[in-house]
Amino acid sequence: MVSAATYSSIALGDIRITFLPDGHILFDPMAVFPTTTATDWQHYQHLLDDNGRLVGSLGAYLIQTPERRILIDAGFGARTFEGSLFKAYSGKLLSSLKLAGFDPADIDTVFFTHLHSDHVGWIGREINGEQVLTFPNARHLVRSAEWHRFDDPAVNKAMVADALNLLEHRIEFLEGGEHLTPEVKILATPGHTAGHASLLVTVGKERAIILGDTFHSEVLVEHPEWTNAFDSDPEQAKDTRRQMLHELAVPLTTGVATHISDFVFGQVTRVQDGFRWQSV
Ligand SMILES: [Zn+2]
Repeated sequence: MVSAATYSSIALGDIRITFLPDGHILFDPMAVFPTTTATDWQHYQHLLDDNGRLVGSLGAYLIQTPERRILIDAGFGARTFEGSLFKAYSGKLLSSLKLAGFDPADIDTVFFTHLHSDHVGWIGREINGEQVLTFPNARHLVRSAEWHRFDDPAVNKAMVADALNLLEHRIEFLEGGEHLTPEVKILATPGHTAGHASLLVTVGKERAIILGDTFHSEVLVEHPEWTNAFDSDPEQAKDTRRQMLHELAVPLTTGVATHISDFVFGQVTRVQDGFRWQSV
């Protein structure tokens, strides 16, 4: 039976990447991928629960180097959300961080792949009726294009308003091609949002690519052409996925995707008609 990913980690040299679960998410598959039909999902019954919903993970990543403790994204927060496209149940991120041996005050950097509600959920918490930053000692970083997309009054801020308010005087920008550490490079991967980022971690010949929501599900590895209702520019997102598949297929590369079920670390291999995702 498919389930959301649990706590797990991989090591590249002395860099450790840990998935910190926050909870799980259940998508209506044909609503999230509106160009698909029931026939398409015949092949992916193993990814669906008993009610036919696509099971996904919610969480964040910790990148540990000998000197640094970097959080990539910040989960969905302590809450339940039940909408038409998805239902989400979360609240475990800080206990997952504890399992890794750290308190929020130990985090020196938070980098956001993008500013959707399921990636900024733990940025603030309420203490004595006041919203304060959960990771008080961290620099908070995002690509400038991601921050400035909210300059457009037509962009709906409702789900992220608290996070944006808290970050307003704290946010700093880091752009595609720049580095968080010598081993961790920011990649501009637009489409899911205009300022979406992925992270390439390189240690010797080994690589990991933290994909954010470039691939919302492993089905998009096999079908990068499927439209994702959550992509703000679906055609650009498809181009980004196609380019990224070639990067992921480079030997000794591990892909890391937030919402994939069972296990968020995987390897992409070339097959006759495209690409396949295999959990590692
Ligand atoms: Zn997401």
